[in-house]
Amino acid sequence: MFSLLSTFRNTALNLVFPQRCLSCEAHVDDDRHGVACSSCWARTELFDESERLCPKCGAASLFPGPAAVCRSCTDHHYDTARSIGIYEHAMSTTILNLKRFPVMPRILLDRIPDTLELLGSSDYDVIVPVPLSAKRRAERGFNQAEYIGSHVARFLQKPVDVQSLSRKIHSPMHRASMDKKAREASVKNAFDVSRPKLIEGLSILLVDDIFTSGATVSNCAKALKKKGASRVNVFTLARAR
Ligand SMILES: [Zn+2]
Ligand SMILES: [Zn+2]
Repeated sequence: MFSLLSTFRNTALNLVFPQRCLSCEAHVDDDRHGVACSSCWARTELFDESERLCPKCGAASLFPGPAAVCRSCTDHHYDTARSIGIYEHAMSTTILNLKRFPVMPRILLDRIPDTLELLGSSDYDVIVPVPLSAKRRAERGFNQAEYIGSHVARFLQKPVDVQSLSRKIHSPMHRASMDKKAREASVKNAFDVSRPKLIEGLSILLVDDIFTSGATVSNCAKALKKKGASRVNVFTLARAR
């Protein structure tokens, strides 16, 4: 009965607001899928407990046997990082759209609790979104990490702190064409904690939209830990493969 009602609702919505998938132009036939269609979502890898992931950064393990900490994250400053899925197909389309309009589809909202569970801890004092520089925030009108953080905070029933961590350097936009070195240089020492008293001794969940090389969240974690944060875990919607 419920699915029948939901089918009626989706059909009615499509008559009023016919939505094309922003990835492949097919018809979006389920309003829980946001701006991408069901076949684009079906092609998008979303993590569950079946994958063998690097225990620290969440990268898919390439080798058989128990997953060990991978070589790319050994010097990263956060404790554990997990993402809902891979930055591809429906996920990349959704995140690109999210940077323009703060709207999160139900398919991602429903995955937040499971991804938090993959992080192995729910014992956080505060949620800290990765900040934008003041200039970028003004250009965009909002910070997508803050928007995602507000949804995560609802599940955890914890406060969001958008004041303590700031981005002091206006770094160029991360583009797919930027290599790892350029990406790392653009965020090195870019973050600062303005109110260390509010951070000291806390267990923090850092939130961002994408984990690419991990350099951004690692530098945020470095700044937070330098001011006494006891733990920094990382939640992102997506990660590079
Ligand atoms: Zn599609
Ligand atoms: Zn790793």
